[in-house]
Amino acid sequence: KVRVRFAPSPTGGLHLGGVRTALFNYLFAKQHNGTFILRVEDTDQTRFVAGAEEYIVDCLNWCGIMPDESPQQPGAFGPYRQSERKASYKQYADQLIADGFAYYAFDTPEELTAKRTEQPNFLYGQKTRMEMRNSLTLSQSEVDDLLAAQTPYVVRIKMPEDEQVSFNDMIRGMVSFDTNLVDDKVLLKADGMPTYHLAVVADDKAMEISHAFRGEEWLPSAPIHILLWKYLGWEASMPQWAHLPLILKPDGNGKLSKRDGDRLGFPVYAMNWNDPKTGDLTKGFKELGFMPEAFVNLLAMLGWNDGSDKEIFTLAELIESFSIDRISKAGAKFDFEKAKWYNHEWIKQSSASNLQLVVSNILTEANIEVKNNDYLLQVIDLVKDRCNLLGDFVTQSAYFFAAPNQYDEAAVKPKWTIEKATFFNEYANQLTDDLTAQQLEEKFKTLAETKGFKPGELMLPFRVMLVGGKFGPGVFDIAVMLGENETKSRIEKAIT
Ligand code: GLU
Repeated sequence: KVRVRFAPSPTGGLHLGGVRTALFNYLFAKQHNGTFILRVEDTDQTRFVAGAEEYIVDCLNWCGIMPDESPQQPGAFGPYRQSERKASYKQYADQLIADGFAYYAFDTPEELTAKRTEQPNFLYGQKTRMEMRNSLTLSQSEVDDLLAAQTPYVVRIKMPEDEQVSFNDMIRGMVSFDTNLVDDKVLLKADGMPTYHLAVVADDKAMEISHAFRGEEWLPSAPIHILLWKYLGWEASMPQWAHLPLILKPDGNGKLSKRDGDRLGFPVYAMNWNDPKTGDLTKGFKELGFMPEAFVNLLAMLGWNDGSDKEIFTLAELIESFSIDRISKAGAKFDFEKAKWYNHEWIKQSSASNLQLVVSNILTEANIEVKNNDYLLQVIDLVKDRCNLLGDFVTQSAYFFAAPNQYDEAAVKPKWTIEKATFFNEYANQLTDDLTAQQLEEKFKTLAETKGFKPGELMLPFRVMLVGGKFGPGVFDIAVMLGENETKSRIEKAIT
């Protein structure tokens, strides 16, 4: 039975890479009729941000990658928040100590700081643990006394000497680590909370996780987790690991980070708290005007493809075509321009009725009054090919709802003549509501020729009169949409 988990820490905004991890877990689960679980890893109380859990849930909902089990919708493997499982972790720490795989460390924060000042590259581990105050260096009775006196302690894993820890990563193949290079990580903190390392193993076991997709930044932690699975006697139920490629900047250099100030809208959603990491980054992909379908599509392509040139996938298609063999080991480049291209393709291929609700909200927010829904649908059809972000609908369609109050004068005035004004006056008189765009165009051309103009030199002024600027769909389509009266009135307003 396939059971996968997305295990974010509620420490801030959910960033691009985080949602991609969620998505790959989700796709794998759905493809195998498995279960996709949201587990909130909130054991680091110092980094906890109130509201972050709700935010993560909202983001996943917006993306349409809904967990089957979560704190909000618990299944039979709860609780789904690590802090609520606190009581269960100590027994594992105790077991590891009893079996000689872990030890108590009583070093005070001051002692550790002093050590680090003395030895800047200090790592608590094989080479140094015997210089420290822990149950390996103290006698049993000293340890018992310290424990009886409720002296604060942490529990550390005792990394074995000269061992190779190997495992078969679903993406990377065989990966090996030299245990001499890994320090004695803390498993249980002085406040009784487990660290991520102990909690992730205990929870994956308790929740019967079968496969774990996570970012490559967790690869260095894998040997610790694998040893814990072994030391706790659970090796046979260890999940299969898959470490997803890093997400890189477009130039291929450097890992993408939340801290990159130039990276517009890295979180999925705007956060309504002041995030110390992302600073004033209050816009996310949603607020920037991405369609959730496009966002999910572009995330899937960060490190995966189906082997063909196909780039546009629905979520259902992704579930169908997803395969681990086609996930690359190399870092995936994220390019904001390419992200907009995905959104553009999605807007283009969406039906006007699918876009109607979101566009009408955007227009309302921009104080554009939409009175008639059929009219809105037609406008959407006319302009959607010109929009990259949903917000582009404001500029692209505002003039269909109200006459422009400003003109791009430079586009019209320098070559403006009385003859041109006469032309437009006569043309306005020929307009009737029953004419099609093609008929309007024919009349325009015939009249222009009779008056000795090249139709081309009048087309741009006509557009500017109706639109206010040099953009938009075919000018005669616009005239048909606006109707006889409105088109006439805009011509008049412009030539007087
Ligand atoms: N809590 C970890 C995170 O914030 C989860 C890592 C894992 O999937 O093991 O990403």
